[in-house]
Amino acid sequence: IAELCGINNQTHNFNTMKTIDSIYINGEFVKPQGNQVFDLISPTTNKQIGQVVLGNEHDARTAIAAAKEAFKTFSQTTKAERIEYLKRMHKAVSRRKDELVDVMVEEYGGTLQFCRMSMEFTLSGFTAAIATLEKFDFTKKMGFSEVQLTPLGVVGIIIPWNASNGFIAGKLATAVAAGCTAVIKPSEMSAMQTQIMAECLHEAGLPAGVFNIVNGLGETVGAEISTHPDVAKISFTGSSTVGKIIAREASATLKRYTLELGGKSPNILLEDADFSKAIPTAIAAAFMNSGQACVAATRLLVPESRLEEAKELIQTMLPLFPVGDPKEETTAIGPMVSQKQYERVQGYIKLGIEEGASVLTGGLGHPEGLENGNFVKPTVFYNVDNKMRIAQEEIFGPVLSIITYKDEAEAVEIANDTIYGLQAYVSSVDTERARGVASQINAGRVLVNGLNHDPEAPFGGFKQSGIGREFGIYGLEAYLEPKALIG
Ligand code: NAD
Repeated sequence: IAELCGINNQTHNFNTMKTIDSIYINGEFVKPQGNQVFDLISPTTNKQIGQVVLGNEHDARTAIAAAKEAFKTFSQTTKAERIEYLKRMHKAVSRRKDELVDVMVEEYGGTLQFCRMSMEFTLSGFTAAIATLEKFDFTKKMGFSEVQLTPLGVVGIIIPWNASNGFIAGKLATAVAAGCTAVIKPSEMSAMQTQIMAECLHEAGLPAGVFNIVNGLGETVGAEISTHPDVAKISFTGSSTVGKIIAREASATLKRYTLELGGKSPNILLEDADFSKAIPTAIAAAFMNSGQACVAATRLLVPESRLEEAKELIQTMLPLFPVGDPKEETTAIGPMVSQKQYERVQGYIKLGIEEGASVLTGGLGHPEGLENGNFVKPTVFYNVDNKMRIAQEEIFGPVLSIITYKDEAEAVEIANDTIYGLQAYVSSVDTERARGVASQINAGRVLVNGLNHDPEAPFGGFKQSGIGREFGIYGLEAYLEPKALIG
């Protein structure tokens, strides 16, 4: 996976922090008012590696008040000042990137390969925000009016565990670029990496209150942020289920919101595709982050005539993506984040078998020798009908379904036939042909012939994969309110 994405090896140490008992409010690390303790369990061994003292609603309110106060002055900063802050944020996080990678591996079981790549995405969140801001004009002429794009206010940032640093960087960088202030509620499962991010961002010297981080549960801290009248916008990444709750919570005070939700990405291999490249790319795209990625390409659409070839190549190439200890350089697929997630993925593998799909490789249970952690056998199903639940529902684990199609029109129809529309993939030796198919797919991003990443391209979902876009100009505009001065 690392090779396909061009990431080099580095030396790493695994020094785990044990207790996180502070949150970050108004420029200071303070003790939370909440006293509930959440145990951090290693996904690799299922042994406790630390604990986090969770904040509560009171902490969320204090953080919102600090962000509201800071907004009075931060909203008046110039573009040049905000670019300077973003550069300092980038520098401070870059300095500790290796440590962040180690903590990610330890805390949620991401593989070294994936976490390094993820860290590059994190850093690109700052550089992309700088690039966008440099070319962005906050005043536009429309008709005979002047339209001013003004920062929305306090933004609530609520994020999942699977690439926490990247979400903090991308969302906070955009908020800062826009002149907004923020209260971040990370997942309780990524408290260690969040703590380091908080230290880095503190070191970057943003004015007190511009960003605040409150660890806590969704039902307490998350709900307080999404209902509080002083929060102008919610930027949420997580499941579609929680996204819908947040949309309901936020609508009571008519907050703006950006929702980045689940996916069931199709990967169409067109009839002429070069399988020697497309199949390893398909495996990498399906099993990235051990399948725990919203953009995982979990439905592989192959022409009926090339099914046997696809099956053979998958069987040959899957051993090049070994499952194992995420700390090992060579491991491509690590454990599921929690025992709960392990059980959920097992449930889907069982369901696939019950639904009548055939197991090409993998199946139920742990891979041999990996019984102590939340490891799943990378599982590939064929004889899958797109109507089956394994083809329709987000599994969030290393489970891939091969679905055959007769012609291009049917491939597009199957690709579009889910409630999701986050990302899609198309391969063909004829790039123009692939782009033609890509333009018919209802997804926020379509990757043509490979796994390229463009941090300035808009990211977000069609249908139940979300509302709104992040990154680049669309991402920045989502933190701004247009105001027309007429006459
Ligand atoms: P989740 O939806 O369970 O939780 C996400 C966040 O929401 C957490 O911080 C959680 O504490 C909080 N939350 C829960 N209930 C809440 C409530 N009532 N009010 C406010 N906040 C609440 O997601 P997860 O299990 O942490 O992450 C996996 C999910 O995230 C998957 O569905 C995946 O597809 C999605 N995801 C989407 C993207 C994207 O960009 N589209 C990226 C990564 C992950």
